[in-house]
Amino acid sequence: MDIIIRNAKLRDRKDQVDIVIAKDKIAAVEPKIMEKGHREIDAAGSLVLPGLFNLHFHADKCLLGEIMRPNVSGTLPEAIEITNDFKRNYRPEEVASRAIRACEVGVKNGTTFFRLFADVGTIGGLRAARGLLLAKEKMRRYCDVQVVAFPQEGIARDPGAAELLEEAMREGCDIIGGLPWYEYTDADAREHIDICFEIAKRHDRDIHMLVDDTDDPNSRSLEYLALKTMREGFQGRVAASHCGAMGSYNDVYAAKIVDMVATANVTISVNAHINLVCSARIDHEPRRRGIARVKELLARGANVISSQDDVNDPYYPFGKPDPLECVSMIAHVAQLTLPHELDMAMSMVTENAAKAARIADYGIAPGNLADLVVIGAPSVHEAIRLQPPRKHVFKRGREVARSTLSQELLT
Ligand SMILES: [Zn+2]
Repeated sequence: MDIIIRNAKLRDRKDQVDIVIAKDKIAAVEPKIMEKGHREIDAAGSLVLPGLFNLHFHADKCLLGEIMRPNVSGTLPEAIEITNDFKRNYRPEEVASRAIRACEVGVKNGTTFFRLFADVGTIGGLRAARGLLLAKEKMRRYCDVQVVAFPQEGIARDPGAAELLEEAMREGCDIIGGLPWYEYTDADAREHIDICFEIAKRHDRDIHMLVDDTDDPNSRSLEYLALKTMREGFQGRVAASHCGAMGSYNDVYAAKIVDMVATANVTISVNAHINLVCSARIDHEPRRRGIARVKELLARGANVISSQDDVNDPYYPFGKPDPLECVSMIAHVAQLTLPHELDMAMSMVTENAAKAARIADYGIAPGNLADLVVIGAPSVHEAIRLQPPRKHVFKRGREVARSTLSQELLT
């Protein structure tokens, strides 16, 4: 027996269990294991979760906040403008070093799987993608990384971007991104989505787009993405981030879209941090929040995840990064406060995200990969409330991070 985590609290059972890790897999989960492990860890009633996910992270831009000029308007267009100044001069090694710094913090906070978005377009070429592919390679022993080839300046708006996306996939990117709502017209947005599906099909890759990330109630890219997903037989292989326009759709149209999203099995990624600070900057009061209709999506059985879009970049000045922060944030914005709702929120960085990434051997059960996090709290409720240190983080059966917190009240 390699490692035994004793006295672990799991989400789905009342009693405490011992978890046996053998090589890279979970070998047993039982109330009392009699044998001794080569290494024994006493969880002492702490909650143990399977590895946490962040499926939407612009790691190529992360930490630019340390060196950039301030975003004076706080708007998306100014953030794009500031980022472009950097992108013209990106070096892959420099992009990788910032991405690794942020991902290392994410791993310490229990993240064992990242989807990193790399801007691909005529301004920065493939430099960001090459940087994140380098980061993926260097972080291999700590976490799984998928790199998304993401057309931040659009496709119709940025002639040459489609060819660069194609090249990015050939160079090893894992997921094809998209930003259809950013195109000038609905027709261009639909063409954008069509091009992304063509590339995805050619390379047999999944899709993760940023969709209807606007307060305009007439933005229609989620509708077409869901339709296209059904028509192309891509159910379960497409994720749509933001979808904040859902909050502004009229209720009748929103009900249709919620139904289409669930039918197409499109995962909705809510990135609440960024939308709370960036959306509705043109509104007076009441100010909209740019958040997808989480409770309606959940009620219809759609897959919803919560992700940390930005870490100290021109778009958003904060971000730890920490999936438990994302859980807390979505619990607030979607008003998920009842016990079963807190559990739903926790699933948005665990099971739901694993489903979106199509990871089959996920979860705390014998035979699954030993990606585990020992949380410094006994329950989901306390984990969200306190966001305590992650005592131990395991990736494929190997301990990759450990944390302690020492606080004293002095007299
Ligand atoms: Zn984003």
